Amino acid sequence: MVDARAAKARAKPANQSMPRAGSSIPPHAHCRICQCPVDLKADPRVCKDTTCIEELDRRETSERRMRTWMLIFFGLFALTFVGPLLLRAVG
Ligand SMILES: [Zn+2]
Repeated sequence: MVDARAAKARAKPANQSMPRAGSSIPPHAHCRICQCPVDLKADPRVCKDTTCIEELDRRETSERRMRTWMLIFFGLFALTFVGPLLLRAVG
């Protein structure tokens, strides 16, 4: 019992000393590529570095392609379930 209370008392100051987001650091965003701080209003959220801009472009292109394929596969997958049901309902 005494040990538990002692442990709690020891843990509390450690929690308080933990830096809270937004308390000491002003609100800012991070570059999506190199994680360096950028302006909150930066859109797209990358720094001015050309390699970061190019990398983001590459990532967004591949993300869009991946999302399209996911949608197509999901559509086909759903069709294998819904298709027979629809055919049965009609027939
Ligand atoms: Zn960057």
